[in-house]
Amino acid sequence: MNRPFSHSSLSTYEQCPARFKFSYIDGITKPYEGIESFVGRRVHETLQFLYNEVASGKLPLFDTVVEFYSDCWNKEFHDGVKVIKQRFSIEHYFSIGRDCLRRYYRKHKPFNQPVKETEYSIVFKLDENDDFEMKGILDRLDNLGDGRWEIHDYKTSSRAMSQADAEKNRQLALYQIGIQKNLEEVQSMVLVWHFLQQGEEVRSERTPFQLEKLKIKIRKQVDEIRAFNFNGGPFRPVETPLCNWCFYWEECPAKSEHNPVVKRELST
Ligand code: SF4
Repeated sequence: MNRPFSHSSLSTYEQCPARFKFSYIDGITKPYEGIESFVGRRVHETLQFLYNEVASGKLPLFDTVVEFYSDCWNKEFHDGVKVIKQRFSIEHYFSIGRDCLRRYYRKHKPFNQPVKETEYSIVFKLDENDDFEMKGILDRLDNLGDGRWEIHDYKTSSRAMSQADAEKNRQLALYQIGIQKNLEEVQSMVLVWHFLQQGEEVRSERTPFQLEKLKIKIRKQVDEIRAFNFNGGPFRPVETPLCNWCFYWEECPAKSEHNPVVKRELST
């Protein structure tokens, strides 16, 4: 349990403590991933490529962007990429990613945002006295000048987040805490989500008081996880529809067989 926590690992713990244990404590890895996360990663890589090109003085055509996406898709695709929603084909998911890129390209061309970093990894302590670290990867960090900054996040999910949920969202607020530790002067920080399937943008800001409250909440959660780990549990399984995207069915006490998408493969 010495590795850094992340928004993603805490979310896994909130959704299903057993899954958290298999992944983050026992370190069990599986050769599978849901196609939705595969699409998301290819779209992120492509947007990074796009901004790298712009940073080097080029403005790639949309065809060039799609070609990059397609090449990444073909290079990275593997047998462990699983389509959970059987009514959809792999081509359907490929198109979702391409359409996300098209929408983004049309909306933001010529990409003259003041980009400071893309795919920027951070590891940090909430405060110096904390005895654990947090980590995250910012999709994009923009420097607007005069101490004004923006953290941007790309989402390929099928539903956009409401403004009310953005105000409570932990992920980018956590990144804000991490980033502010490294920046000399921050007058303002805006958190920006790009919902690429819907072409929507959601923005939010946090007060110092809200960030302090978030730190307290995270510390409490980390304490609970570490106490459970020290005492041997309980890391209870919590069955929800998200089980369909979980590949720990063999280890899970709530399941008696393999995840059906894996079972199909094993029986062929
Ligand atoms: S199958 Fe469901 S209950 Fe079991 S570990 Fe995975 S998410 Fe949790």
